[in-house]
Amino acid sequence: MRAWIAIASLSLITACAGVQVASLDTASALSGKRALEHVRAQVDLGPRPPGSEALEKCRQYIVRHLREWGYEIEDDAFEATTPYGPKKMHNLIARKGKGDKGVIALASHYDTKYMEGIRFVGANDGGSSTALLLELASVLSQRKDGLDYWFVFLDGEEAFVEWSTFDSTYGSRHLARRWKEESVANKIRAFILLDMIGDRQLDLLKEGHSTPWLRDLVWSTASELGLDSVLSKAEFEVGDDHVPFLEIGIQAVDLIDLNFGPGNSYHHTAQDTLDKVSAESMEKVGKLVLGVLPKLQQKFTR
Ligand SMILES: [Zn+2]
Repeated sequence: MRAWIAIASLSLITACAGVQVASLDTASALSGKRALEHVRAQVDLGPRPPGSEALEKCRQYIVRHLREWGYEIEDDAFEATTPYGPKKMHNLIARKGKGDKGVIALASHYDTKYMEGIRFVGANDGGSSTALLLELASVLSQRKDGLDYWFVFLDGEEAFVEWSTFDSTYGSRHLARRWKEESVANKIRAFILLDMIGDRQLDLLKEGHSTPWLRDLVWSTASELGLDSVLSKAEFEVGDDHVPFLEIGIQAVDLIDLNFGPGNSYHHTAQDTLDKVSAESMEKVGKLVLGVLPKLQQKFTR
């Protein structure tokens, strides 16, 4: 992803009183350690750029787990036009239920950036959010709530050469276009994107494109759960996979930490390795997401 405009922001969010927080059993079932094992499995595959054999193996890993937990998986295969020519890509969408009463979509990109001459394994960038998405799919697999949960694993988030409207977010642009054409978009009540959430020094940005009420709901929930320490005071607009969905009218938030290592020095470098990723950070973000979900259920199923 790419940060566009930096805006200073010190605004504090008021707590949203009188709303239930995540059911305790689901929140306590969530395990950062298990998420870390999902990161390890991805890193063990090596660099995972779109179209690579390693990414195909990563897809098989994701699908195998999701099937175990009873999800139906859509393989949204498509051909993207990239600076290196056409590339076959695959988004994976795991669902139970057709979402007729509405859907909360949870998403991550699972590709890693193609970097010539660098062994970029993307433990945090690509790995951590994919791992947490799997862990959330596991703990939510038995839940029967009013709105369905869909888990969206996006291919081709990263630019091959240089971030631009055409060279980035291939999977999300493709899926948003399809969801619009196929009238799926109007089922999605909220879209929660995770990206780079495994940093030991977690600093979630107040991301500037995100739908304000949804971002504020995440922020107030963090305060209620005693997780203020994971929130950054910085506010940026970040080009990321939530943008194509925002552009078709879906309400979306990007939970992203763009301060990875001293001065963001681990971002898109060979330093983005397993030792830089923390089970505790992933568990905190997981619990934060699980704290937000009942509030969304209440808001949209009244
Ligand atoms: Zn990246």
